Amino acid sequence: MTEIYQLPSFDEMLAEHHIATLHSSNIRVLQINVGKLCNQTCRHCHVDAGPSRREIMSHKVAESVIDVLRRSDISTLDITGGAPEMNPSFRWMVQEARQLGRQVIDRCNLTILVANGFEDLPEFLAEHQVEIVASLPCYLEENVDAQRGQFVFHRSIEALKRLNGLGYGQPDSPLTLTLVFNPLGPKLPPDQLKLEDAYRRELRIRYGIEFNRLFTITNMPINRFLFDLRESQQYESYMQTLVEAFNPATMDGLMCRTTLSVDWQGNLYDCDFNQMLAMPVTDQMPRNITDFDLTTLSNRRIVTGPHCFGCTAGAGSSCQGSLQPPTN
Ligand code: SF4
Ligand code: SF4
Repeated sequence: MTEIYQLPSFDEMLAEHHIATLHSSNIRVLQINVGKLCNQTCRHCHVDAGPSRREIMSHKVAESVIDVLRRSDISTLDITGGAPEMNPSFRWMVQEARQLGRQVIDRCNLTILVANGFEDLPEFLAEHQVEIVASLPCYLEENVDAQRGQFVFHRSIEALKRLNGLGYGQPDSPLTLTLVFNPLGPKLPPDQLKLEDAYRRELRIRYGIEFNRLFTITNMPINRFLFDLRESQQYESYMQTLVEAFNPATMDGLMCRTTLSVDWQGNLYDCDFNQMLAMPVTDQMPRNITDFDLTTLSNRRIVTGPHCFGCTAGAGSSCQGSLQPPTN
């Protein structure tokens, strides 16, 4: 008979390690998800994004986001989606945030940079010194296309060459290009620095491409990836892998401690993953960007769930890559 693995709750795991429940310590990053509209339909997508999705942030909500930046010292506006560049207010938000002197991150799928109607997008991003954080789950065509769709690798390489041509990823350039790796299946990412070396070597030799750094991100057991796990009957074993790899040393770097996530309607969450699971900030907190209060939200209890084991497994995982330096 198959043994059923009893998952501890995330809070039980913290208690077992004598770690206090999770609280935020500040808000340095406002991460806004401007909607589910995307030109791709990737297998691992935790947003369930795609070309037919209609949920996108209105200009009114975008104005509230910029207003919060104006009224606070939050240093970074981190824009994600979907393909965030497809939102009609994307360029306006970038311009406003840059005028306020804030760092702007565009979480880019690369193919949008070479899509019809977006031909001038790379120049726009360069002109406003937007940091590009771009998904490229492998340097091999067959692996990328298997996860992200046919011809995605080819178009991603074309986009990276355009970005390099504008100065992105080049030495002594202020234009930062970060690549993002996530595993192709239900396993933990390898060592970030070693993989970065391999990416640098292979992309340089094969395509002459340069980039600044690589982030490794663990696949979160939610939405489309969760569906795949359940379909292939690998959910329990994947969760067991994450739970057994729980690493207390990742706790201080968890992104929910210093990030506030905003959805396309302005609702507030502790992170993008909680947003995808419709788990808003606790009910003692302001729940929408229109009610934003920096002091109150900077000291909030974080809402947790089984997916949090994805952030604390092994070297840890966040939108800024792994949380721990390699042990060897
Ligand atoms: S993973 Fe990114 S590029 Fe792929 S469908 Fe989701 S939002 Fe779009
Ligand atoms: S999923 Fe990760 S970032 Fe989100 S609340 Fe859990 S630990 Fe924090």
